[in-house]
Amino acid sequence: MFKKIILLALSLSLVFFSSCKGEIQLEAQTQIALGTVCSIKLPKGTKNSVYEECFKILSNVEQEISRTREDSYISVLNRDKKVQTNTEVFQLFEYAIDLAKESEGKFNIAMGKVVSLWDIGGSNQRIPSSLELNEAKIDYNEIILDKANLSISIPSNMEIDFGALGKGYAGDKLRDYLKSVELDKAIVNLGGNVLVIGNKSENQPWTIGLQDPNDIEKIFVALKVEDLSIVTSGTYERFFYQEGIKYHHILDPNTLYPSESDILSSTIIGKDSLICDSLSTTCFLLGREKALEFMKNYEDYSAFFLLSDNSIVTSDNFNYEYRVFEN
Ligand code: AMP
Ligand code: MG
Repeated sequence: MFKKIILLALSLSLVFFSSCKGEIQLEAQTQIALGTVCSIKLPKGTKNSVYEECFKILSNVEQEISRTREDSYISVLNRDKKVQTNTEVFQLFEYAIDLAKESEGKFNIAMGKVVSLWDIGGSNQRIPSSLELNEAKIDYNEIILDKANLSISIPSNMEIDFGALGKGYAGDKLRDYLKSVELDKAIVNLGGNVLVIGNKSENQPWTIGLQDPNDIEKIFVALKVEDLSIVTSGTYERFFYQEGIKYHHILDPNTLYPSESDILSSTIIGKDSLICDSLSTTCFLLGREKALEFMKNYEDYSAFFLLSDNSIVTSDNFNYEYRVFEN
């Protein structure tokens, strides 16, 4: 586990090109939260209490939705099949169910039981039997939302998993907090969910590198962005090999197996991290053709895909400057 985290920290450090001479210097503090390495980079000299508040926000999100916290709303729901939430978590359910409907069920928070059976990246990762997989209930229409009481119920044999949107939800909370204390420059990286505030200097956007799925210690593209979220989903994040076959963590609700997408790395750029996070996973699951069509519904969000033949495609509205590296 420790080795894994060091490796991850190393690879995350490749994600940014920090400022050059004369430009504002950022200073990073890093902690493990939401099951990943979270790095907060703020202008040098920022009070320590601001970093502390950022990590407190991440810890509060974990407390709300993490499956590894026994008393989170999600853990209670998965155990008792009923829970009363707060307004924000209830709204996350509403959002996720709308997205499930919009994506023909590809994005599906009711896949929790299937996610647990595979346990990809966990201590018990394995190929589950078809009997086990078929026993799992994954029909999101069976999630009952009682808005008046903010309560959620699910049938037995169903579990909820917010892994595909939790870091995005946290990213938006960090952005709102950092803006509320008038920080106008920051780079936040929650295990590949990147959020940049402001720009590097006047007329100079930040440069963000995306990890190369074929060699995660390298970047394959550098993108110029300012004041936006950049979120990537890919097969390289969590996976295992068995008999030469790669099993990764984004599971197709139609097969209950890792998605056989023609996308290797799916990046969404736009204002809200929650939307970027959930759409990057959705696009990965839809595959290139359907994903490009789907993204037409989101005119304020742009997509950048690295395909399995190593070609790059972008959505029609993609207008960020970028540079590709030959690794
Ligand atoms: P991400 O890394 O944001 O693309 O999300 C992947 C995570 O979402 C996985 O590790 C699972 O926890 C969860 N997940 C897997 N398959 C699905 C799916 N079809 N719909 C929604 N969440 C999923
Ligand atoms: Mg996601």
